[in-house]
Formats: sequence, C-alpha cells, structure tokens
Amino acid sequence: MVVTRALEQGEITRDDKVLVVGAGAAGAVAAMTCASCGLDTVIIDRKSQPFLRQAGCATRWIDPMQYDWPADQWSPGRTFSLYSLVPLPWDADLSFRIAARWRRAFFGVLSSRLRFYLRTHVTAIVPVGGPPPSELKVHFQSPNLTTSKFQLVIRAAGFGEEICSIRDERHGTGTVQHTGPVFWSSDSLEKKSCGSSVSNPKVVILGAGDGGVQDLLRALTKRRSARAIVDSLRIDPSVMNDLRNAEERAHRH
Ligand SMILES: Cc1cc2nc3c(=O)[nH]c(=O)nc-3n(C[C@H](O)[C@H](O)[C@H](O)COP(=O)(O)OP(=O)(O)OC[C@H]3O[C@@H](n4cnc5c(N)ncnc54)[C@H](O)[C@@H]3O)c2cc1C
Repeated sequence: MVVTRALEQGEITRDDKVLVVGAGAAGAVAAMTCASCGLDTVIIDRKSQPFLRQAGCATRWIDPMQYDWPADQWSPGRTFSLYSLVPLPWDADLSFRIAARWRRAFFGVLSSRLRFYLRTHVTAIVPVGGPPPSELKVHFQSPNLTTSKFQLVIRAAGFGEEICSIRDERHGTGTVQHTGPVFWSSDSLEKKSCGSSVSNPKVVILGAGDGGVQDLLRALTKRRSARAIVDSLRIDPSVMNDLRNAEERAHRH
C-alpha cells in the first residue's frame, strides 16, 4: 500500500529509486511491489537471509485467516479463500515451509531492477536539496553496497525483539531468572507434558496477547492450527451456528 499510494499521490515516479530496509514479509512485499511497478529498487537486511523469523521456527503454524475468520472457513469441506495482490504465496502451513516458499518467490524475482544486499544496514540518511528534499543520500555499513541516492526509503524493520525474560524485581530492576522461547522459535508446547520431564506439569504463560493465547490453546489441545483446535473441541453445533450468525451480522454491520 505504501508503494502504490506513493505512486498515486505523485510522491514518487516510475523513474525513481527506492530503498527498502528489512527483508521480512513486509519489506519483501514492498520491494517486490516496487519492482513490479518498474521502480529501481534496493532491499537490504542486516541478517544473512530474508524471512529469518519464520524460517527459524519448526513448530509455529500460521494461517492467513488466523485473525480474520469468515464464518464459512469452518464449514466442512471448505478451505479458506484469500484473494489478495500480495506477491508472496501464503497459505496455511508451518512457518518454516512458508518461509521457504517466500524465499523461492523472492529470489526468483531479483534482477537488475530489484537488488538484495545481505548483512547490510543503514548508518545515516542525509536529505539533499529542499525542503522538501529532492533525494536522500543513504550511507550503509555493508560488504558490497556503497553510499547511494534514493527518492523513497521504506523502513520495514519489524517491531524489534520480544521480552521473554523474567527478572526478580523484588529489589530494584533485578537479575534475569528465566528466559522462555521467543514467539518465532521452535518450542515444545505440543509435546507430551509440554516437553517437561515432569508428568502433568504446571505451565505459566506470561502475556495474554495473541501470541500468549495461541500458545495457551496449543499447550491445552496439542493442536496447532485454529481449525484443528476448533475441531478438537467438539463444539456443540448450535454454539457454532450462533458464532457463525454473530460473525455474519458483524460483517454486515
Ligand atoms: C508475539 C507475536 C505473535 C505474532 N503472531 C503472529 C501470527 O500468529 N501470525 C503471523 O503471521 N504473524 C505473527 N506475528 C507477527 C510477525 O512477526 C509479523 O507478522 C511478521 O514477521 C512481520 O514482518 P515484518 O517484515 O514487518 O518484520 P520482520 O519479520 O521482523 O522482518 C524485519 C526484517 O528487518 C530486518 N532488520 C531489522 N532492522 C534492520 C536494520 N536496521 N537494517 C536492516 N535490516 C533490518 C530484520 O533482520 C528482519 O529480517 C507475531 C509476532 C509476535 C511478536
């Protein structure tokens, strides 16, 4: 959307050069969209591969409909449908397999108009001319990218690192007592006893955001996808009907 809106609004033209910072899902989609619009595009990542978050996790199931459940997703024999112009293929699967498909699609479109630089980050951006500046002079720390000028820089660097450590805060800020797995790491929640040597262990999940709720459901049901979890719960058909009706009403509203 950033790319198409910038073109629509005349913020950039098809002769301009764009830098995308971060080769996660958002950055890759932005860069691929730029390239398909004919823009000269550079995408960089400070790490050694794109999509490393999802690639490094063997247990996380993701699904385009995770947070947007149309009523008919749950009808027997139906699979979700997602019609979108996003240039990365995305269906429901374990995240590392999705990341592998993303990597193939992403590397498949690299060209002289869409160049990817690994182990590279921005050290400074200096506006040139203006205001408003006519271009941005960008300095890099990189094995093979030197200072270059761009008309647009899209920052798609993700939202940083998660806090997964618990400190003993009884006296000041305290020392780290325990560090749990980050969301995009392989965990043992679906294993018997959640991978603990204790049978029937007590599990505490700190943080009741969407990641915490997913993990609560995985620990309790040993199922990974939302659909498998719903199926395993054998919810009374009348309750499912009420849910579908409520959702349909919400959609219409
Ligand atoms: C608790 C939790 C639950 C989540 N639940 C889900 C879920 O169920 N399903 C789902 O699809 N998503 C989920 N997400 C979100 C998921 O992480 C994002 O949807 C997705 O990874 C965001 O993609 P992104 O490209 O914005 O960022 P990222 O995947 O973080 O990619 C950012 C990229 O930028 C690079 N980068 C960072 N800084 C720089 C820099 N200075 N210079 C160069 N490169 C840089 C990084 O190396 C990285 O490759 C969850 C996240 C969390 C934390």
